[in-house]
Amino acid sequence: MTIIKTVLGDITAKHYATAIVNAANESLLGGGGVDGAIHRAAGPELLAECRTLNGCKTGQAKITKAYKLPCDYVIHTVGPVWHGGSHGEEKLLESCYRESLMLAISKGIRSVAFPSISTGVYSYPIEKAAKVAVRTVRDVVEKYPEAFDEILWVLFDERTRKAYESELGNEKT
Ligand code: ADP
Repeated sequence: MTIIKTVLGDITAKHYATAIVNAANESLLGGGGVDGAIHRAAGPELLAECRTLNGCKTGQAKITKAYKLPCDYVIHTVGPVWHGGSHGEEKLLESCYRESLMLAISKGIRSVAFPSISTGVYSYPIEKAAKVAVRTVRDVVEKYPEAFDEILWVLFDERTRKAYESELGNEKT
């Protein structure tokens, strides 16, 4: 059985999972938001490894070590920038979750913590993103029921958490 849940918190602050996911940009060379926080907490060696990866396309994912972070791996995925919803945003966001989890499976990683990909600087509407995120994670778990112990979202603010909880069917928390 795979536990799927949300917690409120800073994804860099403590051990949540074997791998955390970074909402990166295509350069993989760091940015603001959760990306900046992950690079700050990991230390400069993370950037050095990211430089060897030659970037990452939107909707794809790449994996590195986690250096000083309290986890073993960072999965870097690039969410879509919201341009109104008719530019393939949904398929790309779905691909981020799917590719991140397939990469985890290929490495034998059994627990993964996601931030709310694309809903910060990239402006994807939170409720819409939560719907895609929860649907895609559930779909992967259904296809690979033995692969994961836990998949969670570490969400930075109450409003975002509420949206994901509501998609999970946990209205009250
Ligand atoms: P994107 O560019 O994909 O929109 P952002 O980093 O701007 O990525 O925002 C994605 C989400 O991550 C937002 O909900 C933001 O509040 C949240 N966030 C920012 N810092 C952290 C952190 N340290 N831990 C968890 N979530 C964070």
